[in-house]
Amino acid sequence: MESIDILVFGAHADDAEIGMGGTIAKHVQEGYRVVVCDLTLSEMSSNGTVELRQQEAAHASSVLGLYARTNLGLPDRGLESNRSTIEKIVEEIRRWRPRIVFAPYWVDRHPDHVMTSKLIEEAVFNAKLRNYLPQLPIVKVEQLIYYYINDVDAVSLTVDISEVYATKQAALKAYQSQFDPTATKDSVETPLTNGYLARVEARDFLLGNSSGYAYAEGFAIKRPFNVSLF
Ligand SMILES: [Zn+2]
Repeated sequence: MESIDILVFGAHADDAEIGMGGTIAKHVQEGYRVVVCDLTLSEMSSNGTVELRQQEAAHASSVLGLYARTNLGLPDRGLESNRSTIEKIVEEIRRWRPRIVFAPYWVDRHPDHVMTSKLIEEAVFNAKLRNYLPQLPIVKVEQLIYYYINDVDAVSLTVDISEVYATKQAALKAYQSQFDPTATKDSVETPLTNGYLARVEARDFLLGNSSGYAYAEGFAIKRPFNVSLF
C-alpha cells in the first residue's frame, strides 16, 4: 500500500505555499514525499479564473517538487462541517497514508481557513476509527501540525528554511494572478496585491531571526510532540 510522509491541506491553492512553502521544499529536497490537497478550486477569488489558478498551482507544485497535488472541489466560501465533507477528507488521508498532516492554524481572518483547520482536525480523528468508512484501512497520523496563512500567533515549532528560501519565493511567484496587480487586465486590489509577499518574507525573516536562522516558518501544535533529544 502506498504511503507518503507529509500531507498538507489548504482551503485554496497558495495557502500551503504562503504558510509552509519552504518547509515543503526542504523536505522534498531531503527525499520525503509531500502531497498538497486543496479543498476548493478558489472559485470565489477576486482575481484570476479557476483555470488560471489551477495552472498556477501546477506550476508552484513543480517548483516545490510535490509528489502530487489534489483538489477536493468543495465549495469556496461554502465549506461546512458536515458528514460528506469530512468523509471526503478522510478518504484523502486514507488514500495517501501520511505520517504527518498539516492544516491551517485555527485562527485567521479568512473564515475558510478557520473552517479548513476544524475539518482537518475532525478528519484526522476519524481516519483512525475502524468503524468509520470501514472499506478503507485506518490511518493513525503521527502528528497534526498547524501552519500560519494570514497571521501569526504563538509558535511552538520552527523550521529553518534559509537554504530553500529562493524556492519558496519562486513557488509564491507562480501565483501571479493573486499577488501581482498588473498580471491580469481586470485585476482588483485585494489584501494579496498590496505588499503581501513582502509581509510573508518579513514574517519568515523575523521568525528566522528569533531562532538564529536567516528565514524560518513557524508552526503550532495542540498535542505534545515527541522528540528524541540525542
Ligand atoms: Zn486561502
